[in-house]
Amino acid sequence: MTTGERSRDAALRERARRVVPGGMTGHLHAALLPPGYPQFFASGSGCRVVDVDGREFLDFMCAWGPNVLGYRHPEVEAAAARQQALGDCLNGPSPWMVELAERLVDTVAHADWAMFQKNGTDATTVALMIARAATGRRKVIVARRSYHGAAPWCTPVPAGTTAEDRAHRVEITYNDIDGLESAFERVSGDLAAILVTPHRHELGTEQQPVDPAFARRIRALCDRAGAALVLDEVRTGLRIDLAGSWKPLGIRPDLSAWSKAIANGHALAAVTGIDALRDAATRIFTTGSFWCGAVAMAAGVATLEIALREGLVAHLDRVGRRLREGLATQSASHGVPVRQSGPVQMPLVLFEDDPDFAKGTLFCAEALAHGAYLHPRHNMFLSLAHTEADIDRALAATDRAFAAVAARFGRAVARQEA
Ligand code: PMP
Repeated sequence: MTTGERSRDAALRERARRVVPGGMTGHLHAALLPPGYPQFFASGSGCRVVDVDGREFLDFMCAWGPNVLGYRHPEVEAAAARQQALGDCLNGPSPWMVELAERLVDTVAHADWAMFQKNGTDATTVALMIARAATGRRKVIVARRSYHGAAPWCTPVPAGTTAEDRAHRVEITYNDIDGLESAFERVSGDLAAILVTPHRHELGTEQQPVDPAFARRIRALCDRAGAALVLDEVRTGLRIDLAGSWKPLGIRPDLSAWSKAIANGHALAAVTGIDALRDAATRIFTTGSFWCGAVAMAAGVATLEIALREGLVAHLDRVGRRLREGLATQSASHGVPVRQSGPVQMPLVLFEDDPDFAKGTLFCAEALAHGAYLHPRHNMFLSLAHTEADIDRALAATDRAFAAVAARFGRAVARQEA
């Protein structure tokens, strides 16, 4: 594209505005991103994405999580292609469904069984249905602002939902044990589930590890009420611990909801559960025309195999640490303080004294201009495809971005002296 020539991205946005409500739905709308971010993409490979105008970026979103092994991982794609040649959407599942369920049961510590869907919202919704079928109760305790999907019971934007859709949500603050206790006292007789993410990862706020005492209290209260502890692993799955993100804490969920990374970019979700909930999982009616898709399940088996073989979590930890340390050094040398939070595998960088995200927005726009695709408010994602050299290339872009923030907003030290 030469200067003055209209970009393909702009032309597509204009066409989309006419035929797609709002031009795009949900949080992937480019209007929510810094200036210069593309809406439309042409391809992805490893840890790189290419937009429709041919600009290549070193990517730190992994398509908002799914591509945990990198885009188009050759082994996953070969497994998917072999199955694609045989058929994807058939009258029923392929043998891959059984194979994948067996692998999940072997890998996920609490899992005695697995059942499959397509999206994270399907999985959290099915998990809640199982909890309600098992208990005959209605209430679900969730953390305020925790994202569990876009169905009427959980979408963060109430337009198009009724008060009744959300009537049985009981909101608490993540890690607030007293708030948890008092919510529990109010509803324990009608409590079906406590649904929680493994750590706090809300949009635009620092990520927070779970307080082990909070997690233990959730387990104890679920046991006391006979309610289900549901762990929403949609975002964290395969990134923190392959056996489940609360495995290191020694706390066993009754149900876990998975999606995003489990088939490395192929559409797949799963609920895993314990034997005691098998009967309830059998009694609910839940299905979808594409839920048995054989290609995604073949991809899921390959993804798990590679994750185990390659030491995926250790790799994410290693490259994540390098990124975090590099950013911390740059932040100090440019005099631009940042708050980095969350597991290093899922980095989030927020700027001090940045209530409207102006610094974060400028930082990301500048990093993008130098070839790195970051996010100013949502946690980012690393993949097996990110090498140490890729991290260093990204750090070259962020160094320029820090310089731009310092030039526009001043160095923290200089500001204090003023
Ligand atoms: N739960 C969590 C924790 C998520 O991060 C998401 C998606 N960002 C969902 C549920 C919903 O998943 P999906 O968008 O695939 O429906």
